[in-house]
Amino acid sequence: MNSIYNYSREKLDTYFLNKGLTKYRSTQVFEALYKQQVKDFFEITNLKIELREELSKDFSISSLDVVREQRSIDGTIKYLFGLEDKVLIETVLMKHNYGYSVCITTQAGCNMGCSFCASGLIKKQRNLTTAEMVLQVLEVDRRLKEEGKRVSHIVLMGIGEPFDNYENVIEFLKIVNYPKGLQIGSRHITVSTCGIVPKIYEFAEFPLQVNLAISLHFADDVKRSKYMKINKAYNIKDLMDALDYYIEKTNRRITFEYILLKDINDTLEDANNLVELIKNKNAYVNLIPYNDTNFFMRSTKEQTLKFYDYLKKNGINVTLRKEQGHDIDAACGQLRLKEVRCKA
Ligand code: SF4
Repeated sequence: MNSIYNYSREKLDTYFLNKGLTKYRSTQVFEALYKQQVKDFFEITNLKIELREELSKDFSISSLDVVREQRSIDGTIKYLFGLEDKVLIETVLMKHNYGYSVCITTQAGCNMGCSFCASGLIKKQRNLTTAEMVLQVLEVDRRLKEEGKRVSHIVLMGIGEPFDNYENVIEFLKIVNYPKGLQIGSRHITVSTCGIVPKIYEFAEFPLQVNLAISLHFADDVKRSKYMKINKAYNIKDLMDALDYYIEKTNRRITFEYILLKDINDTLEDANNLVELIKNKNAYVNLIPYNDTNFFMRSTKEQTLKFYDYLKKNGINVTLRKEQGHDIDAACGQLRLKEVRCKA
């Protein structure tokens, strides 16, 4: 049955208007689903019983199964959720000094094939529905609520490429931002893409002030094409043109994500290429320590600091991401990969 969590405010308005009812019914349903977090339409007591019956016939209030949960000593919690068709997805809750952020999955597997990424080792099985994305936030928020806390930030940086599931992601953003619902401020939401250029142009027209992050990781085409397949379809010039358009159109700052890989993209020449590429952009760089795999190693502390200093000295806004959940399967996709392999 169609999950009610697929429905943005506009879609729900249409549903009620088609029944000859007012849009106010949508407000009541949104508040019940996202603020009171009801699990049954019959709990929405400010709706007439007939309407509750109709809602129960037309929609389900779906949920996710928790298959596994890993807790880090730093407060990070990684959830492995099971979907109705037994597909497994990962969601990560991180505690920061500014609140609680949830990193969500947008696709089961990923076809982008970035060679340093555990998520890409399992090909895309399917796109997640809007409801499956909303539920990741809601399930975590429910647990936080029991401790008097709430989700304050969302990042779409888990398994999958959000712009390869564009329509569902857009509906998701509208739902989590909606003031009568989860009410996550648009500036507290970040969408990360590896660089699907046509969708960056499209996203520039999206009215919410959501942050855009680019998984750049390499500042020259030879290396980027070698390690990131997307660069063969849209090279760095295509990407930068799209970002210039996006910045001009939205006046928003871009984040460049840059994972430091030992002896691969962490030299001062790489740092200089990065400076030359982005020095005139309204942007900042987020340097990310890598979680070692069989094929790639993280940069040494010394090299990481050299890279950071080089960017800083050359006028680039740069931050070094604080590591979280290092004692659990912290890299995106690792927990799911482990579960899938164990069952194989
Ligand atoms: S880094 Fe992102 S886009 Fe690339 S394979 Fe991993 S999940 Fe997909």
